[in-house]
Order: sequence, then structure tokens, then C-alpha cells
Amino acid sequence: MTANYWNEIEILKARYDIPFEAIVKSDLLRLGVHFTPEALQYAKAFKEKSYFIFSFDRVTQNELSDEEKHAAPEEMALMGGPYDFKKTIVSVRLNPLSPYRVEVVSGACQTKDLHALKTDRADRLLSATPPTQLALVHTNKKINENICFISLLERPAYYQKTLSNGKPVSDITPTIEWGYLIYLTAFRICQYWGAKEECAFCDINENYRQQKKERSYTAIKPIDEVIEALTLIQETDTARVSRAYTVSGGSIITDLNGKSEADFYAQYAEAIEKKFPGRWIGKANVQALPKEDVKKLKGAGYQIYHPNLEIWDEKLFKNICPGKERYVGQGEWIKRVVDAAEIFGAQHVIPNFVAGIEMSKPHGFQTVNEAVASTTQGFDFFMSKGIVPRFTVWCVEPNTTLAQTNTEPPPLEYFVALLQNYRDTFRKYKLPTPPGYGEPGLGKAVFSVSAFMDVL
Ligand code: SF4
Repeated sequence: MTANYWNEIEILKARYDIPFEAIVKSDLLRLGVHFTPEALQYAKAFKEKSYFIFSFDRVTQNELSDEEKHAAPEEMALMGGPYDFKKTIVSVRLNPLSPYRVEVVSGACQTKDLHALKTDRADRLLSATPPTQLALVHTNKKINENICFISLLERPAYYQKTLSNGKPVSDITPTIEWGYLIYLTAFRICQYWGAKEECAFCDINENYRQQKKERSYTAIKPIDEVIEALTLIQETDTARVSRAYTVSGGSIITDLNGKSEADFYAQYAEAIEKKFPGRWIGKANVQALPKEDVKKLKGAGYQIYHPNLEIWDEKLFKNICPGKERYVGQGEWIKRVVDAAEIFGAQHVIPNFVAGIEMSKPHGFQTVNEAVASTTQGFDFFMSKGIVPRFTVWCVEPNTTLAQTNTEPPPLEYFVALLQNYRDTFRKYKLPTPPGYGEPGLGKAVFSVSAFMDVL
């Protein structure tokens, strides 16, 4: 990191037609953030990080304090400050060495939000003298200058309840995207096993091992627990903030409890839609499956299908997704994504790219231009067929194969240029906003692991 790093960020702001909020969000996702002890004390009262599928941290749990592990928030909203940020929601990826720090400051910026909440906890925070709030600072920015203020999400009522067996709702049906999305990792393990099969950027198996020691963390979620947890959400989320659920988890290569991947994941939507018909938009985040299996998912009640391709370049796919290459193959994977549009409708097929892995060492592109051009080709291919992919910002998690050869993520410019190309390709084909993500646009978007919805 250069001493004038913050100046470099401001240069990107001038060079690209991308809102500054989206640039800072992308940088926070790529580098992570840390909280001062006082900020963690403050954050304790709000909705905590649930580790809903991967670690999404830049360090292992062993490298974090107890407060960091249990009080850090799931997400934070960037607001106001010297750049007058519109509300921008960012997933929290912990990194004690990040240049971004959240700290407590005095002032009244968050008071408007707190007044609106009208809760006892908000009243207590408001009556503190002087009122405290959180701000985001960057170590290379001038001392005493904040980037923006930070607002946190109140812990929802259903997070204060437990299932009859004592498990917290945050284990079985945690919510992300500011409460919009219930994230149901039905199977917290992947049957792609070891460096020769696991996707090289993914820590699902290692994350399961480490989280098991830290919190309630169910490997295979029983359907009755899922229904019980959803009932608690249904009863207490009277404002209907939660609007969608994603059923996700590791790939199933042989079978799991006698069920194929399609049958295993289909049973969750079947049970949910039977008990709560149409209450939420159901999304299946599973592999690119043959047509007959995709029909099962649709028949079970899912409305959206996420067959995540991860990376566009064919050679890199082989290296980075060796299990997917061996069992399906990239060409077949792409064909299945396109075929799925016949079953779900093009608008309802949304494959994900993990943005940045195409620049990973040792095999990835060496320049930003090449990497952005490659992934933009993927965007264009799908969007020309009415399929709107999305992308998430790669988090270099330590317990992954790629972390052995990559200590730092790709440069920020890669993510900013990719955002611009994504939005421009989307506009070129005059596509509708992807369903199941809430409202698009700055100040309204809730998707927290990339800024793709903030820039639409
Ligand atoms: S298929 Fe790849 S990305 Fe998905 S859970 Fe398995 S290892 Fe992770």
C-alpha cells in the first residue's frame, strides 16, 4: 500500500463513471475492515455476523478476538459524511490489518436513523451524552477525517428467539442483505474435497470446521428445524422486511442421505412452499444440473436458479474449479445455464461470477484490462440471451487453495472497471432488473457482497 493510497482512490473516482459509494464498497469488500474495541462494544447491540456459508474474512477465527468473532456486525451501511454518501450496504469482512477502520465518534449523524427506529435500544443510544455513533476511517486519509458515518441494523426480533431444541435462528435461517434475504445453507459441506476438487477460492469445508468450534453450526439442516425457524421469522417480521430465501450449500456428487443434489435441495422449497405458499421468493443456489433435475427444482417451488459459473475463461476454470471441470466441464456448465432459461425463464436464471479470481496467481491474467475483458465477455454472452448474471467480490480467505499463492486481492481498479462494464452491458441489452434482489440503485440496493445492484 502506498502512502497516497487514498489519493489513488480519489483518482479512480474521477476516471470512472461509478458512484464513489460503490468504489469504497468494493474496496471494503476486497480489503476487509476492522473495528476498534469501542466500536465492537457499540456493535454488540446490533445484528451480528452469522457466517452464513463461507467465512468471508481475511483471517481465520483463531486470529480474531472473542469480541470480533461474536460482536462484529453482519453488514454496515455507509452514510453521510464529507462525501455525503447515500445509504450503501456492505458485508463485513474482518481483517485486523485492513487500512479501513470503524471507530466510535461523538455526534448525532445516526440519531435520525435511531429516532426512526423508536425502540428501547435506540432510545438508550440517543440518551447517551454525548450521543455516540460509528464512523469509517482510512489510515492513509488525513487524520481526524472520516470517510462517512456507519449505521448498523437492529437485531431483528426473530434473532432474539431460539428453536425448541435451543438452536439460534441465526444458525438455521440467518438473514443478510439488510434483512431482505433468508440464507439457508442446507448443507454446510461440499463433496468436492481437497485441492484437486474444491474450488480454489472456496473455504466452505474449512469454514465449517472452524465455525463448529465457535458457534451453533448445523452441517445438514433438518427440514423441521428450517420450518420452525421460518415460523419465528414469519410471526415476528410483521413489516415483511424478509422477501426472499436462498437454499444453498455444497455440491452433492454421489448422494446425501440417499438423495441426489436436485432431490436434496428440492425438498426444502417443497416444504417451505407447502407451509408458507408464496410468502418469499425462493432461490436455488446449486450446480448447473441437467434439464430433468432443473425441472425438479422449478416444480418444487423455486422461482430463481443460480447455477454459478464462477469464472469465464475456459483455461482458468479448469485450474480454479477442478471438481466442476471434472464432473461437469465448463462447456457443459454454460450449456446447462442456457438450457435452464427454457425452464425458469431467462430472467430467472442468474449465474454468479466470483470477480477477481481471474487475476489470481499463478495462472490468472496479469493485467486489469485482460481480466476485465474476459469477464465482460461472459456478461455479454449471457446478457445477449436475456440471462443477467451477477458477481460477488472475491475475498481472499486464508483457508483456501488460492490463499497459498495470493496474499493480496486484485487492484481496486479491476473491480471499478468491471462494475462499469457490467452496468454498460446491462444497459446495452436493455434488460430488466434481476428479480429477488430488492430495489436497484444507489441508496436503495441491499445486495452487500458487490456493488452490482448499487450501479443499476
Ligand atoms: S462447488 Fe466449489 S464453490 Fe461450491 S461449495 Fe463446492 S467448492 Fe465451494
